[in-house]
Amino acid sequence: MRPELLFPLFAEVERIKGVGPRYAKLLEKAAGPQVVDLLWHLPAGVIDRRPSPPIAEAPDGRVATLTLTVLRHQPSPNRRGPYRVVCGDGDDEIDLVYFHAKGDWLEKLLPVGDVRVVSGRVERFQGRAQMAHPEHVVPEAEAAAIRIVEPSYPSTEGLPMRTLRRAIEGALERLPDLPEWASPSLVAQRGWPGWNEAVRRAHAPSQADDLDPASPARARLAYDELLSNQLALALVRARMKRQKGRSLRGDGRLRDTVIAALPFALTGAQREALAEIDGDMAAGTRMLRLLQGDVGSGKTLVALIAMLNAVECGAQAALMAPTEILARQHFATIEPLARHAGVRVEILTGRDKGKTRAAVVGRIAEGSARIVIGTHALFQDGVEFRDLGLAVIDEQHRFGVHQRMSLGGKGQVVDTLVMTATPIPRTLLMTAYGDLDVSRLTEKPPGRRPIDTRIIPLDRLGDVVEAVARKLDQGAKVYWVCPLVEESEKLDVAAAEERASTLRRRFGERVGVVHGRLKGPEKDAVMDAFKNAGIDLLVATTVIEVGVDVPDATVMVIEHAERFGLAQLHQLRGRIGRGDKDSTCLLLYGAPLSETGRARLAVMRDTEDGFRIAEEDLKLRGAGEVLGTRQSGLPTFRMVDPSAHSELFPVARDDARLLLNQDPELEGPRGQAARVLLYLFERDAAVRYLRGA
Ligand code: ADP
Ligand code: MG
Repeated sequence: MRPELLFPLFAEVERIKGVGPRYAKLLEKAAGPQVVDLLWHLPAGVIDRRPSPPIAEAPDGRVATLTLTVLRHQPSPNRRGPYRVVCGDGDDEIDLVYFHAKGDWLEKLLPVGDVRVVSGRVERFQGRAQMAHPEHVVPEAEAAAIRIVEPSYPSTEGLPMRTLRRAIEGALERLPDLPEWASPSLVAQRGWPGWNEAVRRAHAPSQADDLDPASPARARLAYDELLSNQLALALVRARMKRQKGRSLRGDGRLRDTVIAALPFALTGAQREALAEIDGDMAAGTRMLRLLQGDVGSGKTLVALIAMLNAVECGAQAALMAPTEILARQHFATIEPLARHAGVRVEILTGRDKGKTRAAVVGRIAEGSARIVIGTHALFQDGVEFRDLGLAVIDEQHRFGVHQRMSLGGKGQVVDTLVMTATPIPRTLLMTAYGDLDVSRLTEKPPGRRPIDTRIIPLDRLGDVVEAVARKLDQGAKVYWVCPLVEESEKLDVAAAEERASTLRRRFGERVGVVHGRLKGPEKDAVMDAFKNAGIDLLVATTVIEVGVDVPDATVMVIEHAERFGLAQLHQLRGRIGRGDKDSTCLLLYGAPLSETGRARLAVMRDTEDGFRIAEEDLKLRGAGEVLGTRQSGLPTFRMVDPSAHSELFPVARDDARLLLNQDPELEGPRGQAARVLLYLFERDAAVRYLRGA
């Protein structure tokens, strides 16, 4: 149950005085549906209304507060033009400009002959000063009330700044005093205000410095959010550790058979990762390990060998992939190798229905299916393993926290290995997994050749098509990735179809297209034709992002590369350069490219090191954008700017650990305060792991 103390913050924004249904909707759009969301909606700027120069000295483009006499009204001669109110300060004139304004309202606000104090942005148009829609117009007696420093907030269309500001003021009036959850020494050492004071100060910047993420108020709030995140993760983890694990220590016979059959030797990094995994699996506690490795670093093989360890012990193993294509790909890689060692591998995806599905589900239940590969269909109701010992989850960042947890809920005590090709920076990793154990495959299998990456403006599309034609003539296989259109799969698909049809006019039936709207068998047919014969140029949406494996594809064109996250570009590019032939990646951008956009693409051109790319991206873009949070499964933060606050991550982690060591059930005074914190940041689920909660 949420503490009563927080009730005022978790009311709908409409409960704030002066906020009606219309503005409630817009506030929800700008900040969120609840009062607390307004508190988290921090100013992006400061408006200093104190400068009060004469008109002649008011700087162009800056906010000023002017004392003016109203000279005359000039209604627009036509409907579309603006209404002007001409004012003067004795020496000069300025036009107050209003669009769509009612004349009688303006006559009341600005009566001719009266003096008014007016605040807004001064601009000059053909030498004449003007101010469009002044934000404040008051009689002289009230001037002091507007000659102040005001915060300005990111808003949304149709929501006036003044309304947003008032709503936030209303939210601040509801601010409760909360008990201190941070350690007193930390607060003292950093010179941080208490929570209540920090929220107030964050909303009352008096200079640009106060907007700095490192300012005491903002840093404190970021720390609070990180602490809640780390506490929640630590609670989940503590519960997992309480469950006894089982020791899986195979005799190596299946693993040896498979390794001996490989046409290559394991890399040093693969052997190291396997040693760490073996150690975890042999231990009596549950394994929760992340296997992080760049595209093509050989994670699948590591997963297979770990799974064989479970099978050697008589247990089953499962591998869950985020997409159908990827599941089939894994099956195609793993099945022949496992069969060679006499191990039966099954596949189960959402596409399997009726009798086929029933048969597979039956073999999983009775245990003859030793290794099972599939999509999330694997973890639906009705699928019961006889004895699941190891679950491998590939491309974990695609799954939400919820799915991550539902694995553990399969009844058995399952060791879990999470594989990701996304080089998540350590700081972010910590927010998603807390103290997860990590193995990294930093070394690529030998013989890989670097990819030649080029940055080309989209208006040279014609040249690009000709370059592709030359490559196709030389026998190359080419990916053509279509731009991501605003959160809409339908539009993505339309863009891909259209590009495919223009390319077909040039290259004929060698062009195939694959996207998320294709049915499973259609998709397979296209992928097969690209892998084997028939299709040489594959137009695709980002469905090819993960796992697709066509080793002899050597060219990739990415349209509107500037619209992709760097991690995503890196993933996409990883589809080529897998064999021993030279590969080329053409990043096409729509001009004009922003400074950051240019820098980001340059990073892609200059390195193939996924970890470096991720760190650079974090630096360049900051915030939660980096991994395309929408699908990343990483928590989204309100107060935390991962690039600016990275230093606070380990602090929060250590504090969370310390607090839980001293007070595992969060029962003492600081523990109780920490519970409030968890509710404040809506990490309620974690509170349920506590006794008596
Ligand atoms: P990831 O899943 O990390 O993207 P994969 O496991 O798909 O990488 O491996 C990519 C390719 O490299 C596969 O064709 C695989 O057979 C090959 N491979 C894996 N390990 C090695 C190795 N040690 N030496 C050479 N090639 C390897
Ligand atoms: Mg893989």
